[in-house]
Amino acid sequence: MGYEQELAVAQAAVIAAAQLCEAVRRDMVPEAIEKADKSPVTVADYGAQAIICRALSEAFPADPVVGEEDAAELRSPAMADRLKQVTGFVTTVLGSTTPDQVAQWIDHGNGAPARRFWTLDPIDGTKGFLRGDQYAIALALIEDGDLKVGVLGCPALSLNQGNPGLLFTAVRGGGTWMQPIAGGEAKQVHVVPPGDGDRLRFVESVEASHGNQAEQEAVAAAVGITQSSVRMDSQAKYGAVAAGEAALYLRLPSPKYPDYREKIWDHAAGAIVVEEAGGQVTDMHGKPLDFYSAVKMMNNRGVVVSNGTIHNDVMTALK
Ligand code: AMP
Ligand code: MG
Repeated sequence: MGYEQELAVAQAAVIAAAQLCEAVRRDMVPEAIEKADKSPVTVADYGAQAIICRALSEAFPADPVVGEEDAAELRSPAMADRLKQVTGFVTTVLGSTTPDQVAQWIDHGNGAPARRFWTLDPIDGTKGFLRGDQYAIALALIEDGDLKVGVLGCPALSLNQGNPGLLFTAVRGGGTWMQPIAGGEAKQVHVVPPGDGDRLRFVESVEASHGNQAEQEAVAAAVGITQSSVRMDSQAKYGAVAAGEAALYLRLPSPKYPDYREKIWDHAAGAIVVEEAGGQVTDMHGKPLDFYSAVKMMNNRGVVVSNGTIHNDVMTALK
């Protein structure tokens, strides 16, 4: 198995980033800053990336980090107050730091895929974060195209198990473990076993434009899922499948955005968390997701995540 140090560093960094994100939600009404591509980002996205990149650059200086954010826009004079705000939140978690230092940590996430690299989504589901719903902090280590370590922090997820805040961790070959972010015992989790009708639910995005909800419903029905979907933002959906709260997560290409390609940081941590819990992750044609070639998965369309036992039926329904 190995990877003890990688797991320990990644886990501590994701927990610290989760503290920052929750502090932002507590202390201010987070606002969306529009990026050049029109997608939203918040001070918490930047702060979480700074914290995690700092930890990775200190522990594993040779590893590139492929992160969603970069500090180019934050460094512009018009954004000086924002950068100060981000620095303030980073300081509450890490102790004193400067805006320059924070911008440098964020830009450590500008790496490219390599033989061994990390991929990071500091806040996956920014729209959910802004709405007060689910979001996730997603970090994974990839070597030779294979996912080796995944840490998925879901600060607003409770799965009916007490206070919100769950952390999923997986190392290839070592199973998937779930623990409260606030601290407490880790327990191993498993996907829904075959024939468990009660938990034969499926999950999909809240944002209708991130999938094809009509087709997702039809495919779920074709494999015997009669309950309506549970809609959830972010890779928290992977957590729900890994913990056996849902048997299927469908993300079929949106008819509105036929050329959209999924990005590696939106799936890497979630995928190993589901696989190590006994599930299966492929694209809609049954191909493995390509976490190796580029940030955008050009050779994959859609994503299907299941408990494994129903995967072939889903593929048949999709044909
Ligand atoms: P979710 O919360 O599962 O809906 O996923 C959020 C992620 O969807 C964001 O991190 C975006 O990268 C990604 N996204 C944005 N546009 C699309 C799209 N048209 N299709 C699929 N995913 C998208
Ligand atoms: Mg994302």
